[in-house]
Amino acid sequence: MELVRIPRIMQDTAKDHILRGKPIGFVPTMGALHEGHLSLVRRSKQENHTTVVSIFVNPTQFGPAEDFQNYPRDTEGDLEKLRKEEVDILFIPNASLMYPGGFSTHIEVEGLSDKLCGAFRPSHFKGVATVVMKLFNIVKPARAYFGQKDFQQTVVIRRMVKDLDMDIDIVLCPTIRERDGLAMSSRNAYLNEAQRAAAPVVFRSLSEASGLIKSGIIDAPHIQRIMQESILAEPAVSGVDYMGIYDPVTLNVLSEVRDEVLLAAAVKIGRTRLIDNILVNVKKER
Ligand code: AMP
Repeated sequence: MELVRIPRIMQDTAKDHILRGKPIGFVPTMGALHEGHLSLVRRSKQENHTTVVSIFVNPTQFGPAEDFQNYPRDTEGDLEKLRKEEVDILFIPNASLMYPGGFSTHIEVEGLSDKLCGAFRPSHFKGVATVVMKLFNIVKPARAYFGQKDFQQTVVIRRMVKDLDMDIDIVLCPTIRERDGLAMSSRNAYLNEAQRAAAPVVFRSLSEASGLIKSGIIDAPHIQRIMQESILAEPAVSGVDYMGIYDPVTLNVLSEVRDEVLLAAAVKIGRTRLIDNILVNVKKER
C-alpha cells in the first residue's frame, strides 16, 4: 500500500493511474476504521482497478462545541486493516495542507443541508461538501463509495455531483451492523458498557416503525409517535434530535407513507450522538 500525505502528490499519482488505464474507486473516511468502512473498501476493490482510501478528520465539519479534538483516532490500527484489504493507496493529508492560509471557497448545497442533522449541526454539510469536493479533485475517482448510515450525506453529495456536472458515480452501500442491530460507527467507542447495551434501541424502534409500515399503516405522525415512545422508554437515552419519516429525495417530513420512505433518527445516549436510518419501499413490500 502506497502512503501519500501531500495533496499535489496524490493528484499526480491519480493522474498516472488514470493515464495507465486504471480508473480509481475512492472511499473517503475519517479513520478509526471498522467493518462498515471496510465493506466500502471491499466493494471498491471489486469494481475498480485502483482503490484509494482517505483518512482525514475534517475540522470544518465539526461545530465549535462538537467532538473534533476527541474524535477517535487509530492510525496504526487503520494502516494494518487497510494493508490487509490490499488497498492500493492511502491518502492521509494534514489539515494545514488541505486548508492553507487564505482558504476561502466553500460549497453550499441549499435546501438539503439544513434538514435532519443539518438543523442541529448548522455548518456541518457545508464542511462535508467542501472537503468531499476537494478530495474528489485530488483523488480523481471514477466511483466513490458512501455508506447508507450517513444517508443525508449521500443525498447532499449526489446533489452536488449532479448540479456541478461532476463525472463521478456515487455508490451507496448498505449499513453494516453489530449483531444486536447497532449501526457500526467510530463514535460507538464513546459508549460505556451500560450505554452500549442500550444503544440498539435506535435500530429497534426504526425496525418497529418499518414493521408498522409493512403491515399497511400509512399515518406517518402516528408511526412517528410510536417510534418516539419506544426510544424514550429507554432510560439511557438523554435526548432525541429528530426521528421520523422523510422523503428520501427531498428529506422533507412526510405526513403519509407512500412509495419509498426514509425512517431516520438522531438520538443522544449520554453525550454520544448516534444516527441511524432504514429505507422502506412500500410498493416492493406489499
Ligand atoms: P466516517 O469515517 O464516519 O466519515 O465514514 C466514512 C464512510 O463510511 C461514510 O461513507 C460512512 O457512511 C461509511 N460508514 C460509516 N459507518 C458505516 C456502517 N456502519 N456501514 C456502512 N458504511 C458506513
